[in-house]
Amino acid sequence: MPELPEVETVRRGLQPAMEGRRITQMRVNRPDLRFPFPSRFAARLTGARIDSLERRAKYLVARLSTGEALIMHLGMTGRFLIETPDALIAPGEFHREPGAGAIHDHVIFSLEGDARVTYNDVRRFGYMDLVPLDSLAECRHFKGLGLEPLGNALSGAVIAKLFAGKFAPLKAALLDQRLIAGLGNIYVCEALFRARLNPEAPAGSIATKTGRPRAAAHRLAETIRDVLTEAVAAGGSTLRDFAHTDGTLGYFQHGFRVYDREGEPCVTPGCGGTVTRIVQSGRSTFYCPLCQKR
Ligand SMILES: [Zn+2]
Repeated sequence: MPELPEVETVRRGLQPAMEGRRITQMRVNRPDLRFPFPSRFAARLTGARIDSLERRAKYLVARLSTGEALIMHLGMTGRFLIETPDALIAPGEFHREPGAGAIHDHVIFSLEGDARVTYNDVRRFGYMDLVPLDSLAECRHFKGLGLEPLGNALSGAVIAKLFAGKFAPLKAALLDQRLIAGLGNIYVCEALFRARLNPEAPAGSIATKTGRPRAAAHRLAETIRDVLTEAVAAGGSTLRDFAHTDGTLGYFQHGFRVYDREGEPCVTPGCGGTVTRIVQSGRSTFYCPLCQKR
């Protein structure tokens, strides 16, 4: 399942091919992916100019000159191939699925300047939708989605306000998409380790009674941003030949400090602790009990 950094990597790869270009032709090879395509999907896109290609949580959002936005979600195995007259690129190819051949090419965008962008999805958990631009924030995909973690909106003060008074464990609060959107298990484990925060501590413990940030809140905001930024930076280079055992991530694994390192020594110099795994809300949490004391 692509996580937020993978989706951002894909967005950056697609941007030069799509942004500012008009869609000259659309080919849609089936009536649905995970959900049916919107009515007259190809017709509503043909001739539209893509004014910008953005990301919200794990969605790609193409703002169109027609007053609509094309929303795209990669599901489990969605990927894009970009063909230009002189190159073939698959940005952020995080998941190598055997047999991901042309039979799984479901949507093909022909663009001005002879570029072609193909959406391929073996398992078809991805989906696409068209939504009026003026009601984007309230659309069914984005309504209720929390704060964007990769950006300036996330600060210690903001997290403290979100988490103040909450007894849920920090780990659970960080995974709650209504609070912060798009943070996955791996990145939460890594961010908590770097911030030296115990995953089972109450979320509210990073704030004072009146909701003001403690030092921990500032550290957490910073480490979340660092972890995601590093994963995005790693996205373009080393991911291609890696397939994780559980089928998830591609490349950031070289940067893991605790995730998937159960029983290994803590990487903090002089700590001497051992990375431990516990299960919280059905998901594995990896942490160092010495660095991340309650
Ligand atoms: Zn440690």
